[in-house]
Amino acid sequence: MIFSPNASEIPKLFVEVFEKTVDLEFQNYLANEGRGFIAVVVSDENPGGLLVARCGLDERSATTLFMDVMEMRLPNGLGAYLTPSLFPNGPLEHDVLLIQQRWLNLDTNGRIAIAYHEVCHCFCESKLFHSISDSSVAYHGGKHYRKFTSYHDNDDFGHHPQWFALLVQNAQIMQSKYPGLFASAHAVIESALSGDIRLSEGEILPEWKAVAK
Ligand SMILES: [Zn+2]
Repeated sequence: MIFSPNASEIPKLFVEVFEKTVDLEFQNYLANEGRGFIAVVVSDENPGGLLVARCGLDERSATTLFMDVMEMRLPNGLGAYLTPSLFPNGPLEHDVLLIQQRWLNLDTNGRIAIAYHEVCHCFCESKLFHSISDSSVAYHGGKHYRKFTSYHDNDDFGHHPQWFALLVQNAQIMQSKYPGLFASAHAVIESALSGDIRLSEGEILPEWKAVAK
C-alpha cells in the first residue's frame, strides 16, 4: 500500500478498521479478489479529485483508474467503496475508496464509523463473504435499522439486506476494538449510518434488541 503524504489519514483508518473487523490483511483481501485499489479524495480543496493511496497497481494504472472514477459523476455524500460488481457495465476493474468533504468534516469518532460503513460495503461484495441467514439475529437487527434509513425501500449502491446484516453482525467487534469511542454496538451502528438515517424531528434511533425465543 502506498499512501500519498497528504490527506492519507482516512485511507489508513479504512485499512485499520478493515483489518480489525474482518480479521484479514487488506492486501490479502485484494490479492484474493485479484484486484488493485485506489483511494480518492474529492473535497472543497480538491474538487477535481486527488489520488491519495494505491495498492496492487502501478502509477500509470492507478492514474487511469482515477480518471475513470472522476468521469463517473458519483453522487455527493460522505464517501463510497466501489467494487466492479456494483457496476456490471461500468469501467471499473479495481476497487475504489471515495472520500468526500462531508467525511473529512467529521470528528475522529465519525470518521472511524464511516470507515466501518465502507469496510462493510467492501467485504459484503467479496468472495470471502458468506451470506448471512435471514433467520439470524444479525439479519433481523439489520432489518430493524434499515427501516430508519433512506434505503428502507431500495438497495441503491449496495445497501441491501445482507449489507445491513453484516453492519450489525460486526458492530460488537468494532465496539470492542474502539471501546473509548463507542459505548455499545448500537452506538457503532448509529454513527455508521449517520449519513443515511431519516428520522422525524425529536425522534431518536431505537436500539434493536434481539427477542429471546
Ligand atoms: Zn453506504
